[in-house]
This record gives sequence, C-alpha cells and structure tokens, in this order.
Amino acid sequence: MEYLPLFFDLKDRHILLVGGGDVALRKARLLTRAGARLTVVAHAIDSELAQLLDLHHGVAILGDYRSDLLLGKTLALAATDNDSLNEQVYHDAIAANIPVNVVDNPPLCTFIFPAIVDRSPIVIGISSGGQSPVLARILRSKLESQIPVSFSRLGELVGRLRDKVKARFASVNERRVVWEQVLHGQVAEKVFAGRDQEAEALLLEQIEAGSAKSQTGEVYLVGAGPGDPDLLTFKALRLMQQADVVLYDRLVSDEILELCRRDADMIYVGKKRDNHAVPQHDINQLLIEHAKAGRRVVRLKGGDPFIFGRGGEELEQLKAAGIPFQVVPGVTAASACSTYGGIPLTHRNYAQSVKFVTGQLKNRTTDLNFSEMISPNQTIVFYMGLHTLELLVQGLLDHGKPADTLIAIVSQGTSAQQRVIKGTLRNIVELQQHAQLEAPAIIIVGEVVALQSQLSWFGQDVC
Ligand code: SAH
Repeated sequence: MEYLPLFFDLKDRHILLVGGGDVALRKARLLTRAGARLTVVAHAIDSELAQLLDLHHGVAILGDYRSDLLLGKTLALAATDNDSLNEQVYHDAIAANIPVNVVDNPPLCTFIFPAIVDRSPIVIGISSGGQSPVLARILRSKLESQIPVSFSRLGELVGRLRDKVKARFASVNERRVVWEQVLHGQVAEKVFAGRDQEAEALLLEQIEAGSAKSQTGEVYLVGAGPGDPDLLTFKALRLMQQADVVLYDRLVSDEILELCRRDADMIYVGKKRDNHAVPQHDINQLLIEHAKAGRRVVRLKGGDPFIFGRGGEELEQLKAAGIPFQVVPGVTAASACSTYGGIPLTHRNYAQSVKFVTGQLKNRTTDLNFSEMISPNQTIVFYMGLHTLELLVQGLLDHGKPADTLIAIVSQGTSAQQRVIKGTLRNIVELQQHAQLEAPAIIIVGEVVALQSQLSWFGQDVC
C-alpha cells in the first residue's frame, strides 16, 4: 500500500493554503466543508475564494508567502503555478514537520486527496496513489450511482440510536447482528423513501424487540423502462439487487432481468394480448402472499408503472392488505421511443401538447374520443395500437384529421432491433403491411414526425 487512508479531523484546525486561483478555491471548498480554518496567501485572491474565507472565519493575506506563516498550522497546501514557490512551500513544511500537499505534484506531497463520495457521516475516499486520478474518479462515479444520497440520513439515524442499541445488547456480536438485520431491511428503505419518522419508530421497535426478524415484507413497484438497461434509474437497480422475489412482465427485457439479484425467485406473470397468462387478480394475490411471508418483492413492469401499467390497481390491493410499498418511475415508451426515434414530442413550432392514448379497443369497436385528437399543434402517441392501426387511422380520418397528417411507428424502441417507419395517415397502413414491424410499438401522430429525418440518431429506419 503506497498511502494509508486516514480520516483527518480538521474542525477548527488552521491550514495554510498558498495560491488564490481556481485550484486553490477547489481545495478550499473541500477543507472548509470539513470545518478547517484557512489562511490563504497569494498576490491575488479569487472573489469566490475570498467570500468562502469570510464565511468560514478564514484569513486572506495579499502578498508574498513567508515560511513563518506555517507556524501553528496543521496542514500546508500549495496551489500556485509557480514551481519554485510550490517547491519552497514543500521544503519549508517538511522542515517544520507539517504534512504538505502540492496540488497535482505527487512527489511534493506527504499526503494526497482522495476522490470522495460524501454521504456524511459516511464518507468514502478513493485513491489511485497519485497514479491515475481519472481512474479514481471513474470509480467514484460508479459508487455515487449505487449509493442513494439519503444514505446520509440513514447514517445520522443510526448515529442517534447507537447508544440505545449499546445499552440494550451487551455483546458486540449481538449488536452487529441487529444492525445487519436493521440496515438491510425496512428501516433503511423507509429512510430512502423519505419516511424518516416511521423509520425511527420502527428502528426503536426493533431495538426493543431485540430483533428485526419479524418484519413484514414490502413491494417495490418498479418501472423497468423500455428495454435498454442503461435507461434504468439508480433506484430501480438498487431495489432489483435487493429483491427476494421478482414478478415481471413480458415487456421487461432479458438484459434487465439479468440485473436482478442472482438468487431472487423470478416469476413470469406476463400477459399477452387477449391471453392473460396470469390474471390480474392472481398477480395481486401473489404480491400480497410473498410480502406477507416477509419477502422483498419487486414488481417489475415495462416502461413506467403508472402509464398503461395497471400499477395503480396493484397498489390499491396492497394498500387494502396493509402491505408497505414504494413506486419507482421508469422511462415510458412514448418518451423512450420518441427520443431514440428522433421525434421530439413537443416543439415550439409544431406541437404545444402531447396526448398518450391507448390503442386497445374493446371488442374492436372504436371507443376512443377521436374528436379530441384532431386539432393541430398537438402530438398523439398511441400505446398498444399496432394491431388496431387501421381502425385508429380510420377513426382519425373520419373525424376530420387531414389525410396528409404525418405519422410514425417506432417498433421495439431502444433495443438493437428498433425500427422506425413514417408516412401519412393515407399510406401508413400500407407501409406497415410492407414493413411488418413487430410489437411492442408506439405510434406517433403529428407534425413533429417531420423532424425525424434530421434528428434520427439511433438504430435503423426502414423508411
Ligand atoms: N407501462 C408501459 C406501457 C405498457 S402498455 C410504459 O410506460 O411504457 C404496452 C405498450 O407500450 C406496448 O403495446 C407498446 O405500445 C408500448 N411499448 C412498451 N415498450 C415499448 C418499446 N420498447 N418500443 C415500442 N413500444 C413500446
């Protein structure tokens, strides 16, 4: 190990920072966050840095660096573009036995700054030993995406109740077991869901009971987006990786299923059109049963669970059964297919509003309100409309939408198989007969479709 990571308590410690520019400012921000008192010496001091010093009881010295400024300092930093000055600060600090850092110059450092993931009181420092700060930053961004920002609040809650746990459980081992149960379970999830008071009450209850074992399960209704795993939210991924059971639909892609916890039970409850693999009532029952057995159940749905996803209905049942739940939004097909298809849903010149409409028609008779869809300057997006394309087009024409209105179909949006065709209400049925695009597909109607030829960037267009 080239450097030993240590966490330094800098509260009210005096630090000398030589240099007053951008680089010095960045370091000053970090040091003041840790409560340090800064003395900055430079010929010119950046105005933001000056403000920071004012705010944190720092001292600004406009003028030359002098070695006596090191007296009484805990750390020294040099952040100037004058190499010989930087070197002098280094040698003076060494002579005075003060840890020193010359920014971006590892040979002139007795300590280095790690890349930081700050979820105070939890803090992670990552160092490449000065070999590759970029690599450390890449690792940092990976961790940033995995650790919810609300981890801070969880850390604070645990800190507040630490003494209570200590008093209740004599042995270190017992305490460790309790914390492990608590921090993997509902208490943590409640904090992440912004229900801090409930989390604290539950934690107190569990401390009192001496165990977290009896906790009931929870259901996470998670939007898995349109197919491309890169479009999952951080939160969706985190919950998928904690799941004991996953109930998933047909539209959830294999790549996304791969990202669920390896030993989770995977249950397919997908529905095909006119062919309900598992009736909705049974899905609701399954969710309730698994949660009541204390499991963490992820209900994974394509796109967004609240857009043509029947998510609301499932939650009503969970609520009635007293099962706690969370909902995670996903990128809905309209949004994903329009962006990956190069068709903005709104545009200052073409469309000021957008409507999401189901193309599923009961008994194949038109029960949609087409008269609401014919006015210009709006975009209509039909979900589940591929098999009723002809009826939808006819409905629009019958209600007076011009036959040269532009229309596009985006099939299997965001996947490597994505295909886009575009035409007009007059010829789209024929074009589709020819192209035979497959479900799932979104139909976009409106002038915005004209932009597709300029803005297409992903996958292949058929025509
Ligand atoms: N909750 C989902 C929609 C479910 S309804 C969401 O928010 O996206 C199912 C319909 O969504 C499909 O018939 C199709 O119209 C659309 N759809 C879902 N994924 C799609 C994709 N990758 N490409 C095109 N359309 C998609």
